[in-house]
Amino acid sequence: QGPVIIAGAGHAGFQLAASLRQNGFSERIALVNDEGHLPYQRPPLSKAYLKGTGGPDTLMFRPEKFYHDQNVDLITDRAISIDRGARKVLLASGASLEYGHLVLATGARNRLLDIPNANLDGVRYLRSLDDSEALRHRIASGQHVIVIGAGFIGLEFAATARAKGLEVDVVELAARVMARAVTAEISEFSQSQHAAAGIRIHFGVQVTSIENDGGRVTGVSLSDGRHLQADLVVVGVGVLPNVELAAEAGLPVAAGIIVDELLLTADPNISAVGDCALYASPRFGGSLRLESVQNATDHARCVAARLTGDAKPYDGLPWFWSDQGPDKLQMVGLTTGYDQVVVRGDRGAGAFSAFCYKSERLLGIESVNRAGDHMFGRRLLAANRSITPEQAADASFDLKGALT
Ligand code: FAD
Repeated sequence: QGPVIIAGAGHAGFQLAASLRQNGFSERIALVNDEGHLPYQRPPLSKAYLKGTGGPDTLMFRPEKFYHDQNVDLITDRAISIDRGARKVLLASGASLEYGHLVLATGARNRLLDIPNANLDGVRYLRSLDDSEALRHRIASGQHVIVIGAGFIGLEFAATARAKGLEVDVVELAARVMARAVTAEISEFSQSQHAAAGIRIHFGVQVTSIENDGGRVTGVSLSDGRHLQADLVVVGVGVLPNVELAAEAGLPVAAGIIVDELLLTADPNISAVGDCALYASPRFGGSLRLESVQNATDHARCVAARLTGDAKPYDGLPWFWSDQGPDKLQMVGLTTGYDQVVVRGDRGAGAFSAFCYKSERLLGIESVNRAGDHMFGRRLLAANRSITPEQAADASFDLKGALT
């Protein structure tokens, strides 16, 4: 079979190397890592790590010894091109690696703001450990931050900055927070929580330029003519999948690297996993590209199984979480396209779930501080089962009993 080369050492790349060895794969594994750190977890970068005082070692999946013990070559370099005929990956250092199978786990990068002065030093993004480190220092010395984009990362950052005592304004073009990802029920709750914490959210407006004084950020101009003051701007307007390596090698790409239900590209010797992969989903009957730890790690396990003799279509159930201030949001399933939302629990007490239905069939559950509902949803939906909207609405209905 030959060596497995993995381009990208994020959640998907790391998990693939670990799972291959767990499954008994005995040939060479090389994990090409273009960040100057041991492979690490990203979710804490906008949560506990940003808020806390721990060092980078608190984020690492495994210590350096793990790679040595597992005989995984962790190579600090960047994959810059693929020679598919010769089955070689060329690295930025000039070295090249021969592969039996190549896995693209290149993730995604921040979508950059394209407005005047967006490249000033006081305009920041949050994707990497280095980004989070830099923001920690800026939060410690800053007074007023403007967050552009009320998505998960923007709101997590906003809540942390506010908890650290900064003035926080959030600017969002849509009419509600996390509009593309969650139901109005969850958005409304989240908005009221952020408002109660003293965060101001401005809806239906765009930032049109960054204002500065000799290169130092002083605020932003908005599309409705207003100006907001700030000494720091943090941008969270989504990501772009890293597809260039695949595209330049002639592999089909669209809104991600196109892979089939086995997560194989058009080349039978190359797979793609995680944030960069646009995969054919038998479960949902279309193409999906998701950005979550669940998606990255389950993709990796699926490819590791195939490379060790157990090929099966990818059938992972999507789930996700977001910690915002004191609240834990948890999502399971894909809730787009619902025609009915049933609320279970107590909105006033800040612990409830939105059960999303299409034609009386449960699509997914979005929970706030209701871990039990989330875990129920993971088990129920993984088994391709449903409960009725009436049962979901009935507080006395026994969810656990419905699983047996
Ligand atoms: P990545 O983790 O992005 O890893 C890709 C790696 O490949 C990177 O290190 C990149 O530098 C490297 N790379 C790119 N090109 C090359 C190349 N040519 N050669 C070598 N290396 C290359 N998900 C959740 O489920 N829950 C959360 O609460 C959550 N919070 C998040 C908070 C933040 C701040 C961020 C940024 C993300 C969060 N996510 C969360 C999303 C989650 O982290 C991603 O979905 C996950 O990291 C995807 O894993 P991946 O391996 O596909 O990509």
